[in-house]
Amino acid sequence: MNLKLYNTLQRQKEVFTPLAPPQVSLYTCGPTVYGRAHLGNLRTYVFEDILRRVLEFNGFEVNHVMNVTDVGHLTSDADEGEDKLEVGAQREHKSPLEIAHQYEQTFLKDIARLNILPPLLISRATETINDQIELIKLLEQKGFIYQDEQAIYFDTYKFPDYGQLTGQNLADKKTGARAEVVVDQKKKHPADFVLWFFLKGRYQNHILHWPSPWGEGFPGWHLKCSAISLKHLGPTIDIHTGGIDHIPVHHTNEIAQSEAATGQPFVRFWLHGEFLLLDSGRMGKSEGNALTLPVLTEKHFDPLAFRFWVLQTHYRSKLNFSWSAVEAAQSGLERLRQTIRDLGEADPKIGCAEFEEHFHQAINDDLDTPKALAVMWEMLGSDLPASAKLRSLLTFDRVLGLKLDELKPVQVPGEVMKLVKDRESARQTKDWVKADELRKQIEKAGFEVEDKKDGPKVQIKL
Ligand code: AMP
Ligand code: ZN
Repeated sequence: MNLKLYNTLQRQKEVFTPLAPPQVSLYTCGPTVYGRAHLGNLRTYVFEDILRRVLEFNGFEVNHVMNVTDVGHLTSDADEGEDKLEVGAQREHKSPLEIAHQYEQTFLKDIARLNILPPLLISRATETINDQIELIKLLEQKGFIYQDEQAIYFDTYKFPDYGQLTGQNLADKKTGARAEVVVDQKKKHPADFVLWFFLKGRYQNHILHWPSPWGEGFPGWHLKCSAISLKHLGPTIDIHTGGIDHIPVHHTNEIAQSEAATGQPFVRFWLHGEFLLLDSGRMGKSEGNALTLPVLTEKHFDPLAFRFWVLQTHYRSKLNFSWSAVEAAQSGLERLRQTIRDLGEADPKIGCAEFEEHFHQAINDDLDTPKALAVMWEMLGSDLPASAKLRSLLTFDRVLGLKLDELKPVQVPGEVMKLVKDRESARQTKDWVKADELRKQIEKAGFEVEDKKDGPKVQIKL
C-alpha cells in the first residue's frame, strides 16, 4: 500500500519511497532546552512520533536523529536578542549548561510519558562545534560567507534557490522583512543569517564560546541542524520535520547552508505540524501562555489522554486547547480501556482484516489519525469476534501508542516462548542461520520478535 505524505517543498501529497529502502533517514528538529517544553511543542513531537511509527508500520527501518539546542538560539529566530539558554540560566541562577542538562532530562521524561519513541541518536549543539566550524569552512571555500566585526553571515544572494520552501523569492522576502533591516544594518541582505557570532559587541559577555579560525565566538542557531544531519545521515536525507513556524526562517536557512556546502539536495520530504493554539493564538513561551505537562497531571489528567486528544485532529490542522476537550479525551480513553478489559484474549492469528486495511489506508493517507481512530471505534462496535478485535486493536496501537498492550499484555504461548529462548541462545553463540530459522518459526506462529537492549520483545506479527 502506498504511503502518501504532504511535502511542504512540493505543496502536495506525494507517494513516499526512501532513497535506500528499507532504511529511512529522519531528522526532527529538537528542543531548545532553556525551559520546559510546552503542550504546543509536545503536539509537534507527538506528530513526529506518529510519522516514525507509521514508517515502521509500513516496514521501514527508521534512522531517527534529533538535536538538542543548548547554545545559540536567540530570543528572536532572526538572529536578534539574547541567547535563550543564558536567559534561562539567569532566571534560575545556574550556568547555561546546567540549565540545558536539566531541561534535556525533563524533556526526555515528558516525551516518555507521552509514549513518544526516543530518537536513535540525540546530538547536542555544544558537542558538534567542530562539525559546525567545518561546515562554515566549506561555505567559505565556496564563497557563500562574509563577515563584519559582530558575526559571519551566510550570503543568501549567492544561493539562487533561497526560499524554495516558502515559494517566496528573495526580492519578496526583502520587502517582507524591512523592519529587520532597521534592526540589523550590518547584513548585506535582510534574509542573510548568522553562522558564527563573535565574542564582541553585544555578545562580548556570552558565557559559552569556542575558538574558530575566524575568532572566538559561538555558532548561529541554524547551523547545528545541518551539521548534525550531514554528519549522521549524509548529504541527502529522506524526511525532515518540525513545526510550521520553522518553514520561513529555520528550515529555509538549513536548506541554504546545507545545499550550498554539499551541492546536493538536502531533504526529499519536508513535513510540518500545525500549531496548538490557546484562545486562538499560538501557544508559546514568548507568548506567555505556555501550559506544560505537569499542569495537566496536577489536574489528574493522564498524559496519554493528551496524546489521544492530539490524535483526534490531523497534524496539518490547527488545534485549539481547552480543558473541556482534554476532559472529553480522558473519558474517551477510559472508555477505550474499559472496552479492552472486556474483550478477553487476543487471537494471535486472526484479526479484523477489513478494518485493519482501512486503518492502514487512513494512516498512509498523510497520517490521517482522526480517520484511523474512527475506523478503530467502528471496528469495536462491529459484531466481529472479541479475540479478533483485540488482536487488531493491539496492532493499531503500534501506531497510536496509547499503551493499550499494558492493559492486555500479549499472551505468548509456551511453545513460542521456547522458540524465542532458543533463538536467544543461537544469537549468543552467533549461530545466525539457526537464529534466522527460529525467527521464521516464530512468525509462522503469528508473532514477531524485536531485539531490544533489555532482551527480546515478543509482539503479535503485523
Ligand atoms: P523550540 O523548542 O522552540 O525549538 O520548539 C520545538 C518544536 O515545537 C518546534 O518544532 C516548533 O516548531 C514546535 N512548536 C512551537 N510552538 C508550537 C505550537 N504552539 N504548536 C505546535 N508546535 C509548536
Ligand atoms: Zn532544526
